[in-house]
Amino acid sequence: MDKCAVICGISGQDGAYLAKLLLEKGYEVWGTSRDAEMASFANLERLSIKRDVHLISLNLRDLGGIIDLLGRARPQELYNLAGQSSVGLSFEQPFETIESIVLGGLNLLEAIKHFGHSTRLYNAGSTECFGDTGDCTVDESSQFVPCSPYAVAKSAAHWTVANYRQAYGMFACTGILSNHDSPLRPKRFVTRKIVHAVAETARGSQVKLTLGNLDIERDWGWAPDYVDAIWRILQQETPEDYIIATGVTSSLRQFVQTAYDCIGKDWRECVVTDPGLFRPADIIHSRVNPAKASAKLGWRSHHGMVEVVRMMLEDELRHNSCGRKDC
Ligand code: NDP
Repeated sequence: MDKCAVICGISGQDGAYLAKLLLEKGYEVWGTSRDAEMASFANLERLSIKRDVHLISLNLRDLGGIIDLLGRARPQELYNLAGQSSVGLSFEQPFETIESIVLGGLNLLEAIKHFGHSTRLYNAGSTECFGDTGDCTVDESSQFVPCSPYAVAKSAAHWTVANYRQAYGMFACTGILSNHDSPLRPKRFVTRKIVHAVAETARGSQVKLTLGNLDIERDWGWAPDYVDAIWRILQQETPEDYIIATGVTSSLRQFVQTAYDCIGKDWRECVVTDPGLFRPADIIHSRVNPAKASAKLGWRSHHGMVEVVRMMLEDELRHNSCGRKDC
């Protein structure tokens, strides 16, 4: 094998798709989970790659554990996808969110520095850092205006990576990714919650879907497309940060309508809104420009919101009928 990569957070949606992509490219892949003994790695099982990767227990707050792992694996590339990843949950768990994202990222940078920084680092950033963009479309040079503990943490991790790149000449980059989904998205995320409810309705359930603010707009893409961009970021000659997005936004109302249209139902008869589900602070508009990724990485998104909804729903309908445990 030519290359070795470590994926921190391999059990998640992006970790599983990235592991599959790297294995297809001939990499030796090591993956970390906070408790590799207890984790089910359902996503790796789902993609039929669990036996092809080395799975390691690692908490990113443990610098000694990271140094031990890097000493054993000697990876050329390290992808940090680990940390509390829900914006909504970050309001309830701000300490956990900030610690897992900021301290975890800092420990990885320190460990790479310890070994003379030959390992390239990818940091999972988020377009949430830009806050509400209003009618403007933002790019990599735009200011961060974080509106949640999650976005505060992602902003701090972004600038920590930029600082280590500048101060120590490290090959460390942040991918500033917009929302991206797939059948591997956990149900606590609104997109999966919607397709799950629509699939239930298709099977005859009369239960209403309860949602928060339907006016929010997001740029929704397809996770397997996005892990290709993540990989490309670390293959460049110089380390830089990139926005990864489709460049097209839709409202949550449009997402919901698209999903119910797929089963021939009027969404207004199936959905209720609950102001109790509104976040303490939320972003309405999130418009970002992925032109740099297109020009420098040669990357573009292949699937827009409508296709994402259709593919997630098809999968939900297929797996609901076979009684999958995580449905
Ligand atoms: P997931 O939530 O699916 O996976 C994240 C992984 O991090 C989990 O599998 C888990 O691994 C680990 N993790 C979860 N909570 C904690 C915690 N409190 N402390 C430490 N580790 C934790 O995320 P995605 O795959 O969707 O996203 C990957 C990365 O990209 C994340 O950092 C996310 O914030 C970021 N991102 C994602 C976007 C998206 O739309 N999906 C958009 C923009 C950024 P384990 O339990 O095995 O330890």
